[in-house]
Amino acid sequence: MSDGTVLVQARQLTKRFGGLAAVHDVSLELWLGRIHAVIGPNGAGKSTLTNLLSGDLPPTTGSVSLAGTEITGRTPEAISRAGLGRSYQKTNIFLPFTVWENVRLAAQSRAQHPASWLRRATAFAGTNERAERALELAGLAPRRDAIAGTISHGEQRQLEIAMTLATAPRVLLLDEPLAGMGTAEAERMVDLLQRLKDAHAMLLVEHDMDAVFALADRLTVMVDGKVIASGTPPEIRHDAGVRAAYLGE
Ligand code: ADP
Ligand code: MG
Repeated sequence: MSDGTVLVQARQLTKRFGGLAAVHDVSLELWLGRIHAVIGPNGAGKSTLTNLLSGDLPPTTGSVSLAGTEITGRTPEAISRAGLGRSYQKTNIFLPFTVWENVRLAAQSRAQHPASWLRRATAFAGTNERAERALELAGLAPRRDAIAGTISHGEQRQLEIAMTLATAPRVLLLDEPLAGMGTAEAERMVDLLQRLKDAHAMLLVEHDMDAVFALADRLTVMVDGKVIASGTPPEIRHDAGVRAAYLGE
């Protein structure tokens, strides 16, 4: 299931917006080859937690390390280059461009960093290759020439993931990748996440409980910014507090 590598360690993360603790004292680890799901009702702090891990928001207190290196307070771009990829919602897609152009651009954003022209040229050579692999992995190779604005909602979410994969991340943070999907689309996405599992450490924020329980190795349940339970899927399924607070039983 895993070679035992912890890629992300979040320690006692707290994020306050004024008087509200959107995330309160949350710690978790993401392991290579494992999917860690975060579930909880709307407003529980799941997206804020994702933003704290990706550097999109600085924590009020607490710290995050990536592959043993402290990354708290670094920019999202620096954290992305260090190997952490996150999918944003559709807004990141250039709708008038083709699927391939979108993935190619995402791959390029990673290559643009090196300062010298020689290093830039070397990095650039890997760009097409990275984009091809990402397209293939995400199952979008047959749709490469389609205009992004014309493909289905499910395919646009696949494209988001392909664009994230194009930066060659080792950690994937996915915030509700199944949102708004029909059954067939959701099944395709579950298959895709299963395929990505072995080579990545994954944080999966998701409301679709069938998908969560099919995919997750560990679950963290958040309510009002706090972790109310954490454990394996069977442990969470049978946790009386979780059933009462979240599953509505
Ligand atoms: P979830 O993703 O679990 O639905 P969020 O992380 O989006 O929850 O939100 C957690 C809480 O923090 C909510 O009460 C939300 O209104 C609040 N919140 C989120 N982002 C901000 C922000 N930028 N400024 C103020 N409050 C915010
Ligand atoms: Mg959210």
